[in-house]
Order: sequence, then structure tokens, then C-alpha cells
Amino acid sequence: MSTFKAPKGTFDLIPPYSATYLAVRDAISGPLRRSGYGYVETPGFEDVNLFARGVGESTDIVTKEMYTLTTKGGSELALRPEGTASVLRAALEASLHKQGNLPVKLWYSGSYYRYERPQKGRYRHFSQVGAEAIGAEDPALDAELIILADQAYRSLGLRNFRILLNSLGDKECRPVYREVLQGFLRGLDLDEETRRRIEINPLRVLDDKRAEVQKQLVGAPSLADHLCDACKAYHSEVRALLTAAGVAFEDDEKLVRGLDYYTRTTFEFVHDGLGSQSAVGGGGRYDGLSEMIGGPALPSVGWALGVDRTVLALEAEGIELDIPPATSVFAVPLGEEARRVLFGLVTELRKAGVATDFGYGAKSLKSHMKNAHRSGARYALVAGERDLAEGLVQLKDMETGEQEPIALDRVVEELRAKSA
Ligand code: AMP
Repeated sequence: MSTFKAPKGTFDLIPPYSATYLAVRDAISGPLRRSGYGYVETPGFEDVNLFARGVGESTDIVTKEMYTLTTKGGSELALRPEGTASVLRAALEASLHKQGNLPVKLWYSGSYYRYERPQKGRYRHFSQVGAEAIGAEDPALDAELIILADQAYRSLGLRNFRILLNSLGDKECRPVYREVLQGFLRGLDLDEETRRRIEINPLRVLDDKRAEVQKQLVGAPSLADHLCDACKAYHSEVRALLTAAGVAFEDDEKLVRGLDYYTRTTFEFVHDGLGSQSAVGGGGRYDGLSEMIGGPALPSVGWALGVDRTVLALEAEGIELDIPPATSVFAVPLGEEARRVLFGLVTELRKAGVATDFGYGAKSLKSHMKNAHRSGARYALVAGERDLAEGLVQLKDMETGEQEPIALDRVVEELRAKSA
């Protein structure tokens, strides 16, 4: 152990566990890559004001959870707490929306940072895969994203998740509802902080998890009753498209989510085996965000799925992903001359696309073979001086235990065929 440990609320991804993370990222991004989404990568930090304006000045993310820093040059930066604002900023900066092909569909994968109280499923450094479809107002796009996330989870074998769906209205109907709701909330018995929230973002009071608050919210005016006709029609089309695709969802009027930029469609994926941190992913439409960060009107929709919680969901359902061994051949040299010859062969095999590892260091045959077994490789190539003098190596099938001599100049061809 070194003097140092990973900072509080963070953990390292190390083999073999890390392979599950890669497989989950792959499974989540797969449906996106096959549906016209292009890969985008943005910096790990941004101008702090991008998040303050984009995510919302009053949100927990901005007021309590951002890692902010001042550079030596005096710039105020923040480690990214989420992906949407950065991706939209990048798309605007590169004028992707002017290239004529709307929506601009992008996916990303990376690390995000929130100064939160750490617990199982909630970390200060976590990993998301996300998708954004920028510049089109079309219920099919909202439905597409929900369907692709559903497909991703199902392809991993997950079954015990639910999709919660809501509409938050638009700039026509939401302000009207907001006032009606504020009138109701001001009459309740609430603490100071919640009272402040009524004035800043009353919809988020509906999301309060405390039982004593929820009790008082019975009979609160409903957003569904205040949606304008355009929002109602849009929402019912999203619902119809999901139903037609066979994707089950639950209407959840209380779903507001912790970011201010959402309009109309919002959704969350919750998993029933995760305790209090049950949201494995979420997203929605953010028609006003582009203008909020100084861009043109670009109605958009997106989601982010948490990789850490998806891995926890797999564990909760007892799912072990079928991850093939990283290498298919392990070469074991016996003696100095064999090292040189076999190492050359390993390089040839790798060049030919055969995933191969090598027994390094002066070890006994027994400990080399132990490492060969541990590697999960299907074949071991064993060579000693005598074999080499005859121009041979021994090829051992680790599954059947069978061993056969094979001519040195046939090894690459043979193993390429076997591991194809
Ligand atoms: P949000 O942007 O808060 O909607 O987050 C989207 C998803 O990212 C959530 O559903 C979680 O799966 C994941 N996530 C958010 N915050 C954390 C965190 N602190 N630790 C682990 N996962 C997180």
C-alpha cells in the first residue's frame, strides 16, 4: 500500500472488474452508434458559468456539488458535473447545427464530478454514457432515445427496471402552472430552505423525498391539468410511439429531475434493486437550453445513463456478463534462446491479429503455466531449447489439455485459423 489512497467518494477501476465497465459502456453506446449518433468528446472542465447558466443557478448541482477552481490565469472553471451543457456548447462552437443536417445526433462517454455525500451508488467521480439529439422538435426523437436506452439495458440482460415518464410543459404553459403551484405551496407548513425553493423552482418541491413533505403535497395542482394543447399533443405522440415499440413506461407526474433546463418530455430509468440511489439514468427535452447559453433556438432532447449504477444493477440481478478472455494465446519460453525466438513469434502473432501474451521473467515451467491458466488464454505455446533445435514449439490446448508439436513457421497461420 502506498501513502496515498483514492480520494473520498472515488474508486479505481481495476481488472478484472474494469472489464465489466468497458462492456457496459459498449452495450450502452452500441444502440446509439447503430442509430446515427456520432462520438463527441469535450474537456473535463468548462467555464463555470456554462453550468451555472445551463444547469441552473438554484440547482443542488450548481449551488452545492460543483468542483470549482480558479486557474493561475484567473479563469473560473468547474469540473463537469454533467454532459449536456458541454456537448451543446461544443456543437454550437463547431456550428454543427448550421451544416444542414438537423438533428445533430451525438453520443459521449466519460467521467463526471459532483461533490456529494458518498454512499453506495453515489460517488464524487462517476461515469456516464450519454446521448443528445440537437435541433429538432419531433416526438419520434424523444421516443427513439428512450427506446435505445431500453434496448441497451435489455441487451445487458437487465429486467427489473422501470421507465418513468412525464411532461414538464413549455414556455407557454409552464409559467402559468408555476404560479398556480406557488400559490398552493406557500400555504403549506415547510422549512426555510423549502420555502426559498418555492420562489426559485417550485416544481422541484414536488420531488422532495421526505414523507412529511409528500403528505402535504396530496392535492397539489397537477401539471398534466395545465399543459397547453401543443404540449399535450406532443406528449401523447411520444407515449403512442413508445407503446407501438412495445416499450412499457409509467406516467409519473412528480418527475421533475434536478436540472433546470428540461421542457416537455422528461424520463428516468429506475432500478428496483438499488435502494435509495435507484435512478440508473435519466433525461429529457431541453428546448430552451441553447438560448440560455447564448445560442440560437435549438429544441433538443437527450439522456445520460450512469455506468456505475448500471454495474450495480447487474449485480443486483445476479447477471454476470459474458466477457471473453483478453488474450487467446500465452507463450511460455524455457531458457534464454527460447525467450528470444518466442518473443519474436509473439510479436508476429500480435501483428497477425492474434491476441497474445508472454511469460516474462525467468520463471519455472510450473509458474509460467499458472500464469497461462490465469490469463484465460485458450492456447499455450511452450518452447524449450530441444524443441527449437528441431524447429518446433509445443501447442497446448488449455481446455482439453492436448498438446502437439507444431513447426515454427506454421505457428502464425495455425493460430490465426484457430482463434478466428
Ligand atoms: P443526472 O444528470 O443527475 O440525471 O444523472 C444521470 C445518471 O447519472 C443518474 O441516473 C445516475 O445513474 C448517474 N449519476 C448521477 N450522479 C451520480 C453520482 N454522484 N454517482 C454515481 N452515479 C451518478
